[in-house]
Amino acid sequence: MIPVYLDNNATTRTDPKVVEAMLPYFVEQFGNASSMHAFGAEVGTALAKARQQLQALLGAQFDHEIIYMSSGTEADNSAILSAIETQTGRDEIITSAVEHPAILSLVAHLEKTRGITVHIIGVDARGRLDMEAYRKALGPKTAIVSIMWANNETGTIFPVEQLAQLAHEAGALFHTDAVQAIGKIPVNLAESEIDMLSLSGHKLHGPKGIGALYVRKGVRFRPMIRGGHQERGRRAGTENAPGIIGLGKAAELALEYMHDEQTRVAELRNRLEAGLLQRIGNSFVTGDTENRLPNTANVAFEYIEGEAILLLMNRDGIAASSGSACTSGSLEPSHVLRAMNVPYTAAHGAIRFSFSRESSDADVDHVLEAMPPIIAKLREMSPFWRERDVRTEAFNPTYA
Ligand code: PLP
Repeated sequence: MIPVYLDNNATTRTDPKVVEAMLPYFVEQFGNASSMHAFGAEVGTALAKARQQLQALLGAQFDHEIIYMSSGTEADNSAILSAIETQTGRDEIITSAVEHPAILSLVAHLEKTRGITVHIIGVDARGRLDMEAYRKALGPKTAIVSIMWANNETGTIFPVEQLAQLAHEAGALFHTDAVQAIGKIPVNLAESEIDMLSLSGHKLHGPKGIGALYVRKGVRFRPMIRGGHQERGRRAGTENAPGIIGLGKAAELALEYMHDEQTRVAELRNRLEAGLLQRIGNSFVTGDTENRLPNTANVAFEYIEGEAILLLMNRDGIAASSGSACTSGSLEPSHVLRAMNVPYTAAHGAIRFSFSRESSDADVDHVLEAMPPIIAKLREMSPFWRERDVRTEAFNPTYA
């Protein structure tokens, strides 16, 4: 059985070309970029090239707008903590109810420990931000707005440019967690109002343990990690040279594959979705189907448990995710689907299929064949299925 990997929003396979680019920087060119000898200089040159490769993917105006960090999580934390320090006289944060825990758990902590007021903006049934609530929350005390570019569970894309513009009108900084967007949709920061943006290498076929925070030139930044002068003193610690070089190569490849992502990958996703809905009753797609990442499908199968679905899928060689990878293991439906008011009977059975440029038609065929008997078997055993009220079946056309 050839395994089918449709969990690319959790992590992607490191592209072999990325590994190839990284390998020399472990053994042969192992120098410290800060050293004043040839070993260091070679690495320094490679890091400069990698920075330009990432700059090109982001469409950033200056390469020093990129600060390398250990992960998307560190970039998210650094952006918010910096804004709290630099935006004197402002002690409010605005974010959304569907952010990654890298944002939500930090702001909850700041609220508890530092007396920061946090406004969590809700979303509608399709996961779109409540713009009226957002406008109302903005004010002279807002230090920073942090709203994700695209949601990791549903793929829903947020209108970040418009949100940034509104934040600026209130004198606030605008940060976006673009961990799921970078490499999947075109980005051009040179023509954007976004002040800070987080990304992560392992979501775009780069290595794990490397991320970056883009900080627009002119935006004041206070480091979270202090020490040496690396990254112009904005993120101390000897550079993760293989990681940075790998991320550079991954960025170059992402640009090459962008068209494929927008066309072939989106078609695979659409064929899977349509095929599942056609073959399996009491199922629907969650998220904003008109404005989504090309690679993500979140399908809710009513009256059964996502965890059980995943186990049976795994037996059939299919890897996907229920809720988000970071929250699976708990039996609570994901905070994203709860924020969207997806009924519990459906949110519990939501499965996220996330594609990549490595996905194929054969993957979709295999999933379409495997899923109907899996769902039927679990429903046979489900008391909720037996006791469902047929009068309310397909109760909510909003999700259809
Ligand atoms: N933000 C979003 C939207 C994510 O999906 C993830 C990872 O799942 C992260 C942040 C965290 O990134 P990292 O794994 O690099 O810490």
